[in-house]
Amino acid sequence: MKFIADRMLGKLAKLLRILGFDTLYSNRIDFKELLRVAREKGRIILTKNTLIKKKVGKHRFLFINDNDPKKQLKEIITNLSLEIEPDKIFTRCLLCNNKLKEIQREDAGGKVPDYIFESHRDFSFCDKCERIFWKGTHHKHMLTVLKECFPCGSHHRYVTTQAQSGKGT
Ligand SMILES: [Zn+2]
Repeated sequence: MKFIADRMLGKLAKLLRILGFDTLYSNRIDFKELLRVAREKGRIILTKNTLIKKKVGKHRFLFINDNDPKKQLKEIITNLSLEIEPDKIFTRCLLCNNKLKEIQREDAGGKVPDYIFESHRDFSFCDKCERIFWKGTHHKHMLTVLKECFPCGSHHRYVTTQAQSGKGT
């Protein structure tokens, strides 16, 4: 499932990218352009624009009600029955949506702050932004978000291994 988010939904777009969902977003894209791209690329429109029902016609969209990005994420997950795949979390650049490449730890040396290099093992690289990412703060932040989206411990299903899923907590 691929998405395109409207100008109001920048934070939501980042959350979706962190989870590994292909999500286009630009704060410069106008509504007409948004519709065009969605139609041509077969993307689901995520929008807070109430005019969409009249304009979109047949192709698919999801109207987002909430203003809080985490609750918006929950709306999408619920409405579209999205499945979060643990393997895909942190595989996309949260700034540009490009797929990240895993890089060797040594290759990150000198390119990230020393304290980050010393305290992290997994690094990945966006060749579009030329930025290096590591599973530090974003990783922890995302797990917190998932916890909030799936209370009662059901988030374990999404963040633990297959072998542990379905057995409860
Ligand atoms: Zn990037």
